[in-house]
Order: sequence, then structure tokens, then C-alpha cells
Amino acid sequence: MTQLNETHEPSLQSWLNSANLEGTDFPIQNLPFAEFRRAGSDEAFRGGVAIGDQIVDLAALNNAYLQGSLGDLLTAEAAIALAAAAQSSLNELMSLGSIHWSALRLALSRGLRAGSAHESVIAACLIAQSDAEYALPARIGDYTDFYASIHHATNIGRLFRPDNPLLPNYQWIPIGYHGRSSSINMSGADFPRPHSQMKAPDAEKPVYGPCKRLDYELEVGIFIGQGNAQGQSVAMDDAEAHVFGLCLLNDWSARDIQAWEYQPLGPFLSKNFASTISPWVVTMEALLPYRSAWTRPEADPQPLSYLESMQNRAAGGFDMQLEVLVETAQMREQGLAPHRLGLSNFDYSYWTVAQMVTHHTVNGCNLQAGDLFGSGTMSGPHAGSEGAMIELTKGGKEPVTLSNGEVRTFLEDGDRVIMRGWCERAGAKRIGFGEMSSTILPAIEA
Ligand code: MN
Repeated sequence: MTQLNETHEPSLQSWLNSANLEGTDFPIQNLPFAEFRRAGSDEAFRGGVAIGDQIVDLAALNNAYLQGSLGDLLTAEAAIALAAAAQSSLNELMSLGSIHWSALRLALSRGLRAGSAHESVIAACLIAQSDAEYALPARIGDYTDFYASIHHATNIGRLFRPDNPLLPNYQWIPIGYHGRSSSINMSGADFPRPHSQMKAPDAEKPVYGPCKRLDYELEVGIFIGQGNAQGQSVAMDDAEAHVFGLCLLNDWSARDIQAWEYQPLGPFLSKNFASTISPWVVTMEALLPYRSAWTRPEADPQPLSYLESMQNRAAGGFDMQLEVLVETAQMREQGLAPHRLGLSNFDYSYWTVAQMVTHHTVNGCNLQAGDLFGSGTMSGPHAGSEGAMIELTKGGKEPVTLSNGEVRTFLEDGDRVIMRGWCERAGAKRIGFGEMSSTILPAIEA
């Protein structure tokens, strides 16, 4: 595991003033990656690193390096990583592994620091975030969604199966299903309310139409870095070396479609019409100062040995705050601030990222660079930490009143769902994941 190093030093300042402002998501200690171009242009997408309110254009920086303008800032490993990061997807960078990621991070940190001799060359590679548009950071070959919050699993299980909320495998297996990657969207891409079959519990037969119980799921997205060969599992102590970084994920869910279709093979059309991720991927190295111990309540089954490790117990968790808000069409028209629906933390997870990777590969399943995992809806144990509306409104039975007086049981057309994430801890610099959002459009006439 990578150790804390000079790039995490909380007192580090950048020559770029906006990176030093209190509360910025992107201080010099963060340095997350995205794929971007100038908004509205037909430029090629290329990798970028966020710093303050700017983006370091890694294609431009790579050109500067190739012209000899960066002196000895880059080691050989960092130069290989920069060339990979300049491409139109980050898959190759993700496949290189932590020695290369870390070398590029160190070079960027040194180049962006106050007093750097490379300020003028790097400053010429900056583009304002306000002038950028983003693409998915990687070609996502496969997408797997887990179910790692026991609070969510219990809350939702109670609604779907009142007498049997938590199924007996839950405390033994990191439960997941294979989702669909083709409908994963970048933040800002809106989508229409989906159609399918639904059946009310007391109805004789199903009906076809637009879903009426559309919901969000507040999740962490996990980008796989180096893959594993088919047939070769990844042991717990190696698991995190296969993870590139984390982002925000909204796993949109049509609850009425889900309730009718989910048995016996799990979610299908209730989930695969759209999922939204944030543009910025925060690397595992940037997240090091916010790692936390992972524990399993003593009264619960302890993990089977292949899902157990000292390292996972010591620091398998992430103290990562997660927030979800809604901005209705009316709030937008009236210029009102969005309403917070939930505030949770990735540390509520019953299973760690390492356990997800190890379990996913224990049968020999091969992961590939750019694969995406979802953590599952990351609800906490108390009121206010629900990660989905179905939990907040007890299945639609207890409508929630928003700050402007509007009432919701589920999401309505025009609702824009916003997610944010950040890490803060004494002795470390606060870092953030930026913001992502997407708006529900009316169903297409069918
Ligand atoms: Mn989900």
C-alpha cells in the first residue's frame, strides 16, 4: 500500500490561488483525473487534472514535456503515465498501476507547488473548469453494482419483504449484480422517465407505462485499475492495488418496475436505463489520509478467511462524506437553493472495496482496467442518512416536504438530483469530488 508522502502535506500551497482557497474541492493535495475538452468544441477529449477552478490539460502538458520544456520534473514512470493520461480515455493510465500513478502525482504536485520553476509552462496548459465539458473517464467494459450498506439492505428489504428483510446470505457475501455499462452517463446528461411493466401488489395483472416510482441511489463508484487474468483471483492484501480511484455514482432506480421484475434473477430494466457518474476520479493515493479502520460487529458473522486481512481491518474503510440534494423545476424557476435529501458516509459500508474486489475475482472472474463497481446505496443508520427516496419516504407512505413546501414521494419530471462527496479529517487537507447532477425528463410517448 502506498504510504503518506510529501504530496499529502496539508501545508502545501499552489502557485494557483484558487487551489489555496478555503473549502475548494481541488487543492494541490487532491489532483483527481477526468476526460474533458472545451465546452461546445469538437476538440478531442483528453485527460485533465483538477487544480482549484482550473484543469491541467494533460495532452498539452505531454506536448510540453516532449518539447523538453519540463526539465527533469518527470521521471521515466511519470512520463509514461502522462502520455497515457493524454489519451481520449484513461483506460491505459488505469492499466499501468500504482508506481506510474504515483510518479505522475508527485510530478504534478511538485510542478503545481508555489515556487515551482515550471509554473509558466504549466500555467500555459490550464483551462478553466467553467469552460470545460466532460466525457466518461474510461471506456467502461463492465459494471457491477454491489449492495454494501446493511442499513439500505435492511430498509429496502423491509419494504419488499416485511417478514424477511435481510436475506441470510447478506452478512456472508458482498452481494452484487452485473449491471449495464452502455447506459452509464456523464454528469449533466439528462434522460427520460423509463417505461416497462409494473404490477401493484393487489392488482391481478401488470400494466405497461412510464414508471411512477423513480428514485435515486447515492453510491460511490469504484474504477478498477490493473485487471487480473481469468482464472486468477485477487487476494485481500493485493485487492486495492487493482483500484485506480473513486467517484460519485447515482444508480437511478425505477422501484415499481423493480418490485415486479426482481425475482428470481435480480434488477433488470429497473436499473439499466441510466446511471450517472461524476467527472472527477479521486485516486486511491489522494484518499490515503482519510482511510479508516473497518470492523464487523461481534455478534455478526465474521468474514470467511478469503475476505479477511489485517490491512483491511486496520484501514479498509473510507471516511468519505456523501450528500444528495434535489432541485425541482419550481426551485429552479424561483432561484431557490436545492434541498438536501440525505447526508451519509462511505464508512457505513458493511463491506470494503477490497472485499468487493476479492469476492468478485474469487471464482476466477477477470476484471479489466476501466471496469466500474458501484458500492450500493450508501445509507447510514440514522434518519437523514438515507441514500434513496424509497427509504426516506418509507416506500412512498411518508411523503417528504421540501424546503420550498413542495412534497415528494418519488421523483417527478424536471427534478434535478445533485450529489457531492468530500473527505475532511484533522491533520489533513480537505478534498472533494466536485458535484454531479442529472435531470429527469418526461417519459417519451410510446
Ligand atoms: Mn444500486
